[in-house]
Amino acid sequence: MFVGLDIGELWSDRASYVDDWYAVEEIDSQTFIIGEPKSSQYNSSFLLEGEDYALLMDAGSSERPSGSKSMAEIAGTLTDKPILLIISHMHFDHIGDLSEFNGAILVAQPFIVQRAAESDRTFALDPIWSEVQGLEPSGKIITASSAETAFHGTRDIRVAAFIQPGGILNLGDRPVTVITTVGHTYDSLSVIDHARNYAFSGDFMYQHFGGVVAFLPGAELKVYIESIDAFLSKTGPAYRFFGSHGQQEYDYQWAIGMHTEMVKIRDGLVEPRIAGNFMSPGVPLQLHQKGPLLIYMTPFFDSAFIFSRYFVWMAAMAYALFSIVLFVLLGMLPRKKVPTN
Ligand SMILES: [Zn+2]
Repeated sequence: MFVGLDIGELWSDRASYVDDWYAVEEIDSQTFIIGEPKSSQYNSSFLLEGEDYALLMDAGSSERPSGSKSMAEIAGTLTDKPILLIISHMHFDHIGDLSEFNGAILVAQPFIVQRAAESDRTFALDPIWSEVQGLEPSGKIITASSAETAFHGTRDIRVAAFIQPGGILNLGDRPVTVITTVGHTYDSLSVIDHARNYAFSGDFMYQHFGGVVAFLPGAELKVYIESIDAFLSKTGPAYRFFGSHGQQEYDYQWAIGMHTEMVKIRDGLVEPRIAGNFMSPGVPLQLHQKGPLLIYMTPFFDSAFIFSRYFVWMAAMAYALFSIVLFVLLGMLPRKKVPTN
């Protein structure tokens, strides 16, 4: 439940349900929002069509009911061009129907490129991937860790191709730029269509009244702010901005506001309070609020530590210890003798 937008409610009167699960809004005749208003985090994916190819940003929330159409099928009803999937990041709620596609485009972050290079698992790459300008075909399968999927287990990511940060992908008379926007995650990317003045920012930036989850606190907040600086320098007030959760479209002022508040957090000018968030049930987070803008961050520890195997191992040990203590205490309770017949 979010202020102003209930689960299942349409985000705009220009949007309409195409079946029981998906709703679509045409931004222009070649650009679509594919929303999942009934998903718990009000997810959206975006379809950008060129003369030769269509680019689909994200593969669905993972929450569609069984038997419903996949994100691949829905996107296929909106374009007759071959669909190239790009994922904004590897969190579970953006890769739901990944297996329905012949892999996905990832931005060439050195640590992901290296993992792909070291992987000995491959898949049969569709020839289309070597035809598209601006891409480096891969064909490798990497494993997204549980931390990378936002604690929804490990997932195979079939890497169809990499695009260099700042690289231009030509969809056929429609070049789009892909930039890294590290902050929400290390692998986050945004897609910018400079000709039409559109920017698609994934989870790096959105106007979702459930709040922005910035997983990089402390020193790494600096990196998030640098990403916002870069994102703002490549866009401007004339752009239309679209995020992947909640009310998709937000304006330049919202982006500026997020920057301003992040800088205040970095400079210690505000005191975040401890709060919970639906993204990480049971885990206390730090929250800084400015009007409708909520910025959640991991508390106490550096996020690289929180997402490390060491931390998961410690949590597992603490849980095991707690279980043993509970078991022993229960065993010490006086018991009634149960009659045997
Ligand atoms: Zn998300």
